[in-house]
Amino acid sequence: MSDCLFCKIAAGEIPADTVYEDDQVIVFKDIHPKAPVHLLIVPREHIPSLKEMDASHDALMAHMMRLLPGLAQEQGLDNGFRTIINTGPGGGQEIFHLHIHLLGGGRLPGFG
Ligand code: 5GP
Ligand code: ZN
Repeated sequence: MSDCLFCKIAAGEIPADTVYEDDQVIVFKDIHPKAPVHLLIVPREHIPSLKEMDASHDALMAHMMRLLPGLAQEQGLDNGFRTIINTGPGGGQEIFHLHIHLLGGGRLPGFG
């Protein structure tokens, strides 16, 4: 996807504050953090959103989920963290390349 911001970051064409990467994912700091720690876990594969997931992504999704506790710990989030996946305009998604938000380190708002 030549026109996708997160594909460009994953390819190293646009700089990001990367904290972890492997052959499947890249993890970098959100440019407009909503909490003291705000990371984005981004698959290298261009998948627009959760709606486009299929069985071929099962291992990738499990990999991303299993990375989260270690990433949180590395960021000093000993007391817990929040994960968010926004899907589609109705879910507040702005970048149409699947990503998991990892947030913590301060008082997070409740959900009402
Ligand atoms: P979404 O609303 O799609 O779930 O989240 C997109 C996130 O990407 C937002 O939190 C936004 O601050 C972040 N973001 C947008 N552009 C950039 C960028 O160029 N670099 C980084 N590191 N984050 C970005
Ligand atoms: Zn992409």
